[in-house]
Amino acid sequence: MAGETILAVEDEDDIAELIRYNLEREGYRVVTTSTGEAAVQEAVRRTPNLVLLDLMLPGVDGLEVCRRLKADTRTANIPVMMVTARGEEADVVAGLELGADDYVVKPFSPRVLVARTRAVLRRRRAVPADETAPLSVGGIEIHPGRHEVRVADHLVELSATEFKILHFLARRPGWVFTRYQIVDGIRGPNYPVTERSVDVQIVALRKKLGTHGKLIETIRGVGYRFKE
Ligand code: CA
Repeated sequence: MAGETILAVEDEDDIAELIRYNLEREGYRVVTTSTGEAAVQEAVRRTPNLVLLDLMLPGVDGLEVCRRLKADTRTANIPVMMVTARGEEADVVAGLELGADDYVVKPFSPRVLVARTRAVLRRRRAVPADETAPLSVGGIEIHPGRHEVRVADHLVELSATEFKILHFLARRPGWVFTRYQIVDGIRGPNYPVTERSVDVQIVALRKKLGTHGKLIETIRGVGYRFKE
């Protein structure tokens, strides 16, 4: 949607310019800052539609910026997309758990940057699905009320935990979740699931879903995502 404001936090001038050029060309308004302190101030002052946040910043780093934005009611709802270097998966996990929405890895192509930016903004505009409403996604039909899953009209027998994991991921296609977030999202008194056992559950879930199992994607070093 044209006219949306994006705050880009990036200490490398050439990357900041690359971001500005490509997003402005798509009709976004782009504000850039090069430090974490300025990023927090600008976010409070302008309430941008999205913060594009480099994690490796001098002084207050990106994770701390994310923590401060999410802790302040004035900025907590602004989506954050992290910009990371390869090999920073641990930071990506930490950022997602702090409430960041997504991430792009440097070096990124302008096309990927624009696509991911659009996707995060689109997901934010989407009305959150009613947790009890039947869901049809990627050829999988999920009926929370009946705890039923069908693929091509065939009933798939899932355990309660497998069902919860599938429903949790499929409600938000394209979102990356860490194992901790998955456990946290499905946890209840009857679901004693550990982070490690999420991997085991997902292996079983994929197998039961057959060819549709590949809709659950592994994001190496980070977690899982239901294919968008
Ligand atoms: Ca940097």
